[in-house]
Amino acid sequence: MKPASELWKAALGEIELQINRPNFQTWFSKTTGVSYENGEFFVGAPNAFVVEYLDKNQRSLIEKTIIGLTSANTKVRFQVGTEPKTEPSKTCGSSNGSSCRLNPTYTFDSFVVGGNNRMAHASAISAAQNPGGTYNPLFIYGDVGLGKTHLLQAVGHTAIETGAKVLFVSSERFTNDFITAVREGQSEKFREKYRSVDVLLIDDVHFIGGKSSTEECFFHTFNELHQTNRQIVLTSNCPPNCIPQMEDRLRSRFEWGLTIEIKRPNLSTRLAILSSKAMSMGIEIQQNVLEYIAHKAPRSVRELEGCLNRVAAYAKLVRLPITIELSKEALTDVSDRAPDKTSISSDIIIETVAAAFNITKSDVLGRKRDKETALARQVAMHFLKSYNNCSLTEIGTLLGGRSPSTVGHACEKIESDSQNNPFLLRKMNDIKAGLFPGI
Ligand code: ADP
Ligand code: MG
Repeated sequence: MKPASELWKAALGEIELQINRPNFQTWFSKTTGVSYENGEFFVGAPNAFVVEYLDKNQRSLIEKTIIGLTSANTKVRFQVGTEPKTEPSKTCGSSNGSSCRLNPTYTFDSFVVGGNNRMAHASAISAAQNPGGTYNPLFIYGDVGLGKTHLLQAVGHTAIETGAKVLFVSSERFTNDFITAVREGQSEKFREKYRSVDVLLIDDVHFIGGKSSTEECFFHTFNELHQTNRQIVLTSNCPPNCIPQMEDRLRSRFEWGLTIEIKRPNLSTRLAILSSKAMSMGIEIQQNVLEYIAHKAPRSVRELEGCLNRVAAYAKLVRLPITIELSKEALTDVSDRAPDKTSISSDIIIETVAAAFNITKSDVLGRKRDKETALARQVAMHFLKSYNNCSLTEIGTLLGGRSPSTVGHACEKIESDSQNNPFLLRKMNDIKAGLFPGI
């Protein structure tokens, strides 16, 4: 039988034909086939976010493809990283392993320090080496793709090395754990898990805002850990006082320690990051090409990485050396689309939304009325209005003959629902990431 990596390559070839390019780039480009044993195929992804997305949105497509290739009934599973599961993965100090899988590449060593992140980096190191000692909590905020998750996990790696018991969770995971504990009457287990750690790392804490019972629970967890000098590190896309619908008492606690912003990297930092990434990928790229790529991707490191990967993949495909000309070709649609958010075609928007909800484009365009399809349609309306400059009438016609007032109402509903529902917001951010890869 073919090894998992070969099989996955073949699967990717087929999957690429079935979903649009931005989606493929965003969600599949860094995946690997990790292992295939006992009817279980493990797909490795670069981080928990991608794992979650693939699990929720692309499972059926992936399973169908793998089954097609192996002619055997296969269950697909997702994991962070490329280490086969049978080998013990790096987990938190002691028992709480499963929810704390850290991406092995997100270390301090691989983090390039520049003016935009120097303070965040220094305080993260301090929190990792001396948990609970100086800055507690450490609150790191900044736009998407600037290295918050990377730094947070680097704290985890270093703290584990010093023997601390570490728990890294997304705020979504925290919320789900809490809900499950309440539903199953297992609050003791929840307490044990969250309140017994030396270092608690919560990623994207802004998603907790507006979920009052989760906030309440987080408030108590926070207090207990803080009172006993356990280290808390939080990341968010905005400073504490801007998290929508967060209770003041929690907000003010977030401000007790140190709040630091990670900003966009300047040109020289972007160049340093590109050099370091190129080196770790084992490719040699001339300075002028690095400069070209650095100019192309000013907004985030994720975008920068995306461009570099794309150039490298393209060079491999056409078997030519990496030059400026080749990079221009590889990055044409990045340059065309990224700066102008109002020019994405309605087709791409509808496809991307459909893919995110795991339904077909014709479902979005059709008349199905089940909850999921209706929500996907409303989200599509919102994106068409925001990013395509379609009029309400045009959108209505496009999406199965709805009246302009229905469309207007749907757009308003999505805008307000996404403020109250962090999971919808996250879905919409996924879609945005699909429409604007790397941004
Ligand atoms: P965020 O959580 O802020 O959205 P991530 O931590 O996921 O961003 O970073 C996006 C990508 O950019 C990751 O692959 C990460 O390793 C990389 N990255 C971000 N900042 C740096 C940096 N300073 N040095 C090296 N890689 C970085
Ligand atoms: Mg992140």
